Amino acid sequence: MKDWMSRIVDQYGQEYVLRQLAEESAELCQAALKVVRVMHGETPVTLVEAQDRMLEEIADVEIMIDMLKSAALNDRGVERVREIAVRKQARMIERMLENE
Ligand SMILES: [Mg+2]
Repeated sequence: MKDWMSRIVDQYGQEYVLRQLAEESAELCQAALKVVRVMHGETPVTLVEAQDRMLEEIADVEIMIDMLKSAALNDRGVERVREIAVRKQARMIERMLENE
């Protein structure tokens, strides 16, 4: 039997995965900005509430990225994402921590 992510992609299609990823990513953006607003005292929301919301949205985005990688992309796509991430991490370290 296929894993549950592949079954959902088969049943609802790649467009569902992409739409859901876009929606959850937008929610994570808002949740991250809300934490910043709490840090600046610009909202009555507490830090714990804002962080909890952000954690929930991180989970939502991770689920959709896992689904996209495991069921909607092929193995080559997953490997490519990994290679790009390694390269970008190295560049970020070089750019942001080089002068320490
Ligand atoms: Mg969400």
